[in-house]
Amino acid sequence: MSATRVLVLNSGSSSVKYQLLDMRDSSRLASGLVERIGERSSRLTHTPLATGGGSREWAGPIADHDAALKAVAEELGKDGLGLDSPELAAIGHRVVHGGRRFTAPTVIDDAVLAEIERLIPVAPLHNPANLTGIRTATALRPDLPQVAVFDTAFHTTMPEAAARYAIDVETADAHRVRRYGFHGTSHAYVSRATAKLLGKAPEEVNVIVLHLGNGASASAVEKGRCVDTSMGLTPLEGLVMGTRSGDIDPAVIFHLARVGEMSIDEIDTLLNKKSGLVGLCGDNDMREIRRRIDEGDERARLAFDIYIHRLRKYIGAYYAVLGQVDAVAFTAGVGENAAPVRAAAVAGLGSLGLAVDEGLNAVRGDAPRLISPAGARVAVAVVPTDEELEIATQTYALVKKTN
Ligand code: AMP
Repeated sequence: MSATRVLVLNSGSSSVKYQLLDMRDSSRLASGLVERIGERSSRLTHTPLATGGGSREWAGPIADHDAALKAVAEELGKDGLGLDSPELAAIGHRVVHGGRRFTAPTVIDDAVLAEIERLIPVAPLHNPANLTGIRTATALRPDLPQVAVFDTAFHTTMPEAAARYAIDVETADAHRVRRYGFHGTSHAYVSRATAKLLGKAPEEVNVIVLHLGNGASASAVEKGRCVDTSMGLTPLEGLVMGTRSGDIDPAVIFHLARVGEMSIDEIDTLLNKKSGLVGLCGDNDMREIRRRIDEGDERARLAFDIYIHRLRKYIGAYYAVLGQVDAVAFTAGVGENAAPVRAAAVAGLGSLGLAVDEGLNAVRGDAPRLISPAGARVAVAVVPTDEELEIATQTYALVKKTN
């Protein structure tokens, strides 16, 4: 029997998330997380899903990604799922920035590594950590295909009209300034899953995907291809997020520098870490914000209203970009769980064919589901995202094709 397992690695600067899947039936064999790598209080949480055993935790210092991955390999080995297994077909890596060149999942070689490295200036927080994960995994299993699945790839189909900023073309090109978009793996997965929910092929439908997690982005997907998305050069543009401002007049930055005497680094931190919901009301968890609103908290109310106002603007904008819309899909932590956000996002938009059924919207669940009233012109759906499954699926399809 040929190898059918794929290990998915999502390497951050101080963490590694992983899942091991069997692609015969897309089942999850194990999942886990190594946190606080490089600190004394590192922690590994491992859940062996195949055996149905409970989670195991290990705490102690884990010096670097190499040590983290060795610890993960050891935990997997305890359940007979070690990285040395002949059943492992490939390792799929989430890579945040693939620039314009990587439009699809790619088997990693030296040239690919060099290109991911070349993109570090446009993804200084993410690409270095992704590279470390790839190098560590390659050292452990040099014989195995290592595949990069890029967050930006799904958005490379955006037309120039959507991808370019209206700034001097030579300056933009010299510094590779353009709109790349992120969360692409999620937008790809959710737009396809939404088509399936409607009983259609992805090429038959236009979908607005609203990925509302701690980071948040919207995309307009026309017949399976992304034609616009709300994140840009970096994941700062677009919707109001947990800690990021989203869209802002760029002159705010000059003003804060000149009049507020803030440094570029201070403004960077302000817009990325101290803005969005947390900047507006001190909380970035939508559950807490809803609880505060129920208690009559005005700041929480205003934060919610600003969040919803921006979201509605993007729904309207992407309606115009697509011309005709078959479905609006909500996904990620807020989109999948916060019924009041979904209701407020489409309230009063009946003339666009958009509405939610209060009863259906209140139902919780893990499966993709419709929340629009029966017979609605545009389907409104809750479609749980699954980036690990998407990375594993793309990785496995590629290695099967190239073998
Ligand atoms: P994600 O980045 O997709 O993991 O989403 C994380 C965010 O989802 C959290 O910051 C919360 O704001 C939100 N969230 C998770 N569960 C709920 C819930 N039950 N109700 C409202 N918001 C939730």
